[in-house]
Amino acid sequence: MLMLTFLALVGNTTPSGRASVVFYWCSDAKTIASGGLRIGLKGPLAEYDFIIVGAGSAGSVLASRLSEDHKTTVLVIEAGRGESLFTGVPILAPFFQQTHYTWPYLMERQPGVCLGMENQRCFWPRGRAVGGSSVINYMIYTRGLPKDWDQIAADGNYGWSYNEVLPYYTRSERATLRSLKDSRWHGRAGELFVEDVPFRYSTIPHTSLFADFENSRSSPNTK
Ligand SMILES: Cc1cc2nc3c(=O)[nH]c(=O)nc-3n(C[C@H](O)[C@H](O)[C@H](O)COP(=O)(O)OP(=O)(O)OC[C@H]3O[C@@H](n4cnc5c(N)ncnc54)[C@H](O)[C@@H]3O)c2cc1C
Repeated sequence: MLMLTFLALVGNTTPSGRASVVFYWCSDAKTIASGGLRIGLKGPLAEYDFIIVGAGSAGSVLASRLSEDHKTTVLVIEAGRGESLFTGVPILAPFFQQTHYTWPYLMERQPGVCLGMENQRCFWPRGRAVGGSSVINYMIYTRGLPKDWDQIAADGNYGWSYNEVLPYYTRSERATLRSLKDSRWHGRAGELFVEDVPFRYSTIPHTSLFADFENSRSSPNTK
């Protein structure tokens, strides 16, 4: 899904595009390639209206939205590489978790956690790529439970309760889910494509189990 978001960003940099978005791809603090320069631009500008560090899930969307105003200049800096054909295949995600597409973090040791791991520390990968963690993730669309959002708001993050974030979920979503086509909890005109797994009941049996689990929670926001 984030792959699409990034394409939207690049789309804004084409000759027919709307804004001066420059995307820089860096590796090990050294710029080795750049992309998305508009025709006529030979290098980065001297200054930008916005500089976004990290072309991950959030950074890509932010750059895309900011560049909707054609007078705005946006520089996106990313430490990781561009995607490959294979990173767009969800079932291959585990294979990319110990490659250059990943920041290889380890969790801190905690009581009662990761007991079977070396030094009791689990691997905690984060994406390092254009698309960020979405490049190594499983492309499962999940929103979080209302009570979790409400707890986040209750902890002092005003504006983050479930009822406050729900409109942004529906606005961003372009759902084509067969069984939920009349659901008022899903958006249909956003940028984020949410669709059924085509092989749901045959090739990938666990997805139907997952769907059953989701339905069993019977929360309206999951419908
Ligand atoms: C293995 C795994 C599986 C997941 N599965 C799912 C799933 O199925 N469904 C789902 O909804 N979510 C899933 N997630 C979670 C989801 O991918 C993340 O929540 C989301 O991508 C986070 O977005 P972000 O923009 O906050 O950070 P990221 O997408 O991680 O982006 C951060 C970007 O910033 C870059 N960066 C960091 N520091 C610098 C720097 N100093 N200079 C330049 N660039 C920098 C990084 O390289 C990275 O590209 C998964 C996550 C992981 C790790």
